[in-house]
Amino acid sequence: MTSVLTPRDRLAEIRSGTHAIVDLDRYIANLRLLTARAGAGRELVAVVKANAYGHGAVACAHAAVDAGCAYLAVARIDEALELRAGGVAAPILVIGPPNRAQVDVALDNQIALTVATEASLERVLDAAQRRSEPAVIHLKIDTGLRRYGALPPLARKLAQTVERSPNAVLEGIYTHFSSADEEETAPTDAQLDIFQRSVRELRDAGIQPRYVHCANSAAILANLHPETNLVRAGIASYGLDPSDEVPVDDGYRQILTVRSVLTRRFTLGRGESVSYNRTYTAAEDEAAAAVPIGYADGIERHLSNRGWFVHADGGCPIIGRVCMDQTVVRVPESAREGDALTIVSDGRDGAMTVAQLGELCGTNTYEPVTRLAARVPRLYLRSGAPSSWAIPILGQSGHF
Ligand SMILES: *Cc1c(COP(=O)(O)O)cnc(C)c1O
Repeated sequence: MTSVLTPRDRLAEIRSGTHAIVDLDRYIANLRLLTARAGAGRELVAVVKANAYGHGAVACAHAAVDAGCAYLAVARIDEALELRAGGVAAPILVIGPPNRAQVDVALDNQIALTVATEASLERVLDAAQRRSEPAVIHLKIDTGLRRYGALPPLARKLAQTVERSPNAVLEGIYTHFSSADEEETAPTDAQLDIFQRSVRELRDAGIQPRYVHCANSAAILANLHPETNLVRAGIASYGLDPSDEVPVDDGYRQILTVRSVLTRRFTLGRGESVSYNRTYTAAEDEAAAAVPIGYADGIERHLSNRGWFVHADGGCPIIGRVCMDQTVVRVPESAREGDALTIVSDGRDGAMTVAQLGELCGTNTYEPVTRLAARVPRLYLRSGAPSSWAIPILGQSGHF
């Protein structure tokens, strides 16, 4: 079943089909910009949940460690286990509610857990009691997002319980903002006020966790993280704007490129229609091509007759419906079967950026990247050259 290819053949194989290119040099540069922006005395958590926002968690996590990040964060215990299996030894925090059936395996793998309810704390302390190492806990306070978090009075109680336990360490206390990506800072200021009061109360009670954190990317960019020593960066580390109102600065660069190839070049005759439901009809004879990428790869059906790809000789508007596995585009006359196409890039070659893709689909910058499917092979660049690859659906990866 498994074919063992030489690195050169592997590279050729990946490049001759639909694939994503993730520039880890840019990722590291973005992380360094965020560290500088966060300011002296603040360490960076690289948020690599959801397969590093689609880019590939293991490769990004190793690069984040190289960039000097103190911590990695994921949403689920399975995601933390994927990192450990991928050789990531750095501290990992699960920022989502821990699956109670996975708490034991999390502790066995030195994974820090977020606690915000009495049940979650009891479960963690119970598992910790049967182990030699204390559980590492971050306590999340609900200061207004009203999702997973303990309201301040409960947070105080949970913190005291952890402090009294010989089996756990309260390493961190944190909160998460609802609206840091808006120009209006009043909601964030109100959350900060509640958070700082809670932190002070705990300090007055003699509880001083090593880490205090509140900022996501938008809050780092807007400098909304007083009296904290850790910040959590996701979207901006991938070079993407948290929102139109709080964009990244000029130095940040999108790290994702998606490419494909032209598989069938044909002429769509005047008056002929194309793809499911024939939603596009050629007004003249047109040079057209089929491309093996579709909504099952993460290129949304909503881009039908709206989006575009780019060939070396010019733009290629999507014509007709985007299908599950294929899309048809208009191409320059010079286009030939086997030619490369850019599907998404930082925009310098005229292709759609992630931000434009989001805008065309009525969503943010987060959703298009997290939708990039597992069947799309990833090629990682380090020092400007291909350094490693991953084919998520085959569970295969390797170095060049
Ligand atoms: C996803 C997430 C982040 C990262 O947010 P970005 O806006 O991508 O920087 C930070 N903290 C928590 C709790 C999160 O869930």
